[in-house]
Amino acid sequence: MRAAVFPGKYMQGRNALDLLGQEISRLGSRAYLLVDSFVDQMMGQSLIERASEDANTQKSIFGGECCDLEIERVVHEAEGCDVIIGAGGGKTLDTAKIAANHLGARCMIIPTLASTDAPCSSSAVVYTGEGIFLRYEYFNQNPDVVLVDSNVIAEAPVRFLISGMGDALSTWFEAESCARKNAPNRAGYPATLSGLALARLCYDTVLTYGELAKFACEQKVVTPALEHVIEANIFLSGAGFENGGLASAHAIHDGLTILKPSHSFYHGEKVAFSTLASLFLTGKDDAIIQTMYAFYRKVGLPTTLADLNLDQVERSELFKAAQAACIPEETIHNESVPVDPEAVLAALLAADAAGRADF
Ligand SMILES: [Zn+2]
Repeated sequence: MRAAVFPGKYMQGRNALDLLGQEISRLGSRAYLLVDSFVDQMMGQSLIERASEDANTQKSIFGGECCDLEIERVVHEAEGCDVIIGAGGGKTLDTAKIAANHLGARCMIIPTLASTDAPCSSSAVVYTGEGIFLRYEYFNQNPDVVLVDSNVIAEAPVRFLISGMGDALSTWFEAESCARKNAPNRAGYPATLSGLALARLCYDTVLTYGELAKFACEQKVVTPALEHVIEANIFLSGAGFENGGLASAHAIHDGLTILKPSHSFYHGEKVAFSTLASLFLTGKDDAIIQTMYAFYRKVGLPTTLADLNLDQVERSELFKAAQAACIPEETIHNESVPVDPEAVLAALLAADAAGRADF
């Protein structure tokens, strides 16, 4: 038995937000729009105008953290709405997904950054109010619509796009590990051929177009290369990890979140370095490791602990992060090699050494 899961509809292009009203009215008649405060300043007015074209829409500003308190607030305010829309970064989108699931409402996702694999997925990450990883939440359904306006992504600081590439580059390695072990994906079964192909396409697309996309985003313009990388970061990365499964890179990321000095770094940046560590953990050959370090340096992804502000952290603290990556519930156990905290610490230190040596 094999299985695959996807969002109901994925739409991407310049001025895609012009379709907002039409897409909401396909899903329901009363909508709740949760929007990042920064996004609200940039385009809140035009979002609510478009959203209200065909449906009664109320707007609310995201509190800043996908934590239980914020989830409760949104669920309470959105009672009676049949469409929940999240517009903004990963945490806003996750909060909207959880609220839609609680309320049994349809869910529309409008990523304004291409920085994580979260938008298309049927899961969300809940943090404490202080931003420490708490738990994953899983739903029976992916978002009904994921609407990506490429102009909006191009306007955002390029660091978000680069961070998304870091997240996207983990996808293939984790899917490959899961396939090797016949580990179940988000649908509860090993990956289909199509799931694995999406994960691989994600990797190839980022490596091929990543630097070109970075140039376009720096100029705040949309080019075919940027469109490809937006699709890789948002759709292929999300569908790739849900269908291919997660393994050590995301587990090591979760472990690193307990180290305070790295809190100002994005999910994709920490996943990126964790992916390098995973290459050492799983004993990948020179050529693959070199390809990855070379790409990281070209686009500016972290290759050392110092790049994540973790170079002053005691080895005993790093070991605690390695232990957190190896708790029984973690996806690190989908690796086909034996894994323990000592092995994870060794991989982190080896990855850092290679980064410092400009490997
Ligand atoms: Zn991720």
